[in-house]
Amino acid sequence: MPEGPTATAPACPVCGKPRATEHKPFCSARCADRDLHRWLTGGYAVPAASATDEEEDDGPPRRARDPDPDGD
Ligand SMILES: [Zn+2]
Repeated sequence: MPEGPTATAPACPVCGKPRATEHKPFCSARCADRDLHRWLTGGYAVPAASATDEEEDDGPPRRARDPDPDGD
């Protein structure tokens, strides 16, 4: 059997949060823009060490634990 709800609930490929229907496959327009920006700038080749971190990689340092910067 699948392991927990994450097995059937696809997550945002950028930050790993549950994706939103209006922004799929991302959780928000912010993540969609980030993903697009990465591709456009070749950011995927940059060792950002953010594989498991959802923090910005194209902006100034943010608080280590920001609950939900995309919250509306
Ligand atoms: Zn996201």
